[in-house]
Amino acid sequence: SDPVLKVQDLSVWYPVEQGGLFRRRTVDLKAVDGVSFELAPGETLGVVGESGCGKSTLARALLGLVKPRRGRVLWLGEDLVKLDDEAMRRKRKELQIIFQDPLASLDPRMTVGDIIAEPLWTFYPNIARVQVMERVRGMMKLVGLLPNQVNRYPHEFSGGQCQRIGIARALVLNPRLIVCDEPVSALDVSIQAQIINLLRELQKKLRLSLIFIAHDLSVMRHISDRVMVMYLGRSMEVSDAASLYRRPLHPYTSALIRSAPVPDPALARFRADAGLTEDMPSPLNPPSGCVFHTRCPYVVKRCQRDVPALRRMPDGNWVACHRAEDLDLGIVKPAPVKL
Ligand code: SF4
Ligand code: MG
Repeated sequence: SDPVLKVQDLSVWYPVEQGGLFRRRTVDLKAVDGVSFELAPGETLGVVGESGCGKSTLARALLGLVKPRRGRVLWLGEDLVKLDDEAMRRKRKELQIIFQDPLASLDPRMTVGDIIAEPLWTFYPNIARVQVMERVRGMMKLVGLLPNQVNRYPHEFSGGQCQRIGIARALVLNPRLIVCDEPVSALDVSIQAQIINLLRELQKKLRLSLIFIAHDLSVMRHISDRVMVMYLGRSMEVSDAASLYRRPLHPYTSALIRSAPVPDPALARFRADAGLTEDMPSPLNPPSGCVFHTRCPYVVKRCQRDVPALRRMPDGNWVACHRAEDLDLGIVKPAPVKL
């Protein structure tokens, strides 16, 4: 079916002052630089990359919370970039965001019931209170909270429960798209799976489109239909999840997979060795050509000079690497490491 969201050549630049007292200059930090992708109804796109790669800026730009330098965000055919603040505010009925730190994103002076109800009051000020509370209790049940806890305060709940409250609040207006900005990064590993499963269930039940942002690939494996890999504000690869994990197209994707945390300590050490050693370059001064060339094990001369375009491969996946055709980055199980 037709995509609900089409993002075209989206760029968000922040002006940054640099230099000392006498040689001040303004440099553009290209937080997001020419990102394009599409999202189908009911689809989940994972967005992954190290911190500082522009994931959160992308999330904010999609929801109109920061103004892009250029590009289009077509939501059901309408360009959100062109909307004024008031028109964008009205779009919140359809587009919602869930933040990383569940407790910090909930007002500590409000009861859970009032937190979940607030978007309803904003959009429907004349709605009857009994109707609101009925909806709130329904939402609490939907996300696995006890409706009789409606008058409690956020600090009385665990981190995982607070994230459920955040999800209930995001869903109360029946949105069609939810952007989840690292929704489980602040949670214990044991709780992460519960929240991811909940999001997946809700997504199926409500036919939501989801954008699920994370800094490592392991947490999004079970929720993403497709994954976009970002590096220094750019899109390096957009692939369906199954082929991305089995046979990544981009050397950076492959490094991320190999450096993902794994439970086996021997394997973990192997993967750390095989993974990313050099630090990420400053986004204020990104490398020429392919922005990944300073960390890429497969770099050739051309990579330092020419920016690789994101291009479509025969299998329908997208990659920005000059050498995508001649590299085979299939993830083979590493030989057992002797302890
Ligand atoms: Fe590595 Fe060159 Fe591909 Fe960039 S274009 S990922 S430097 S091989
Ligand atoms: Mg972030």
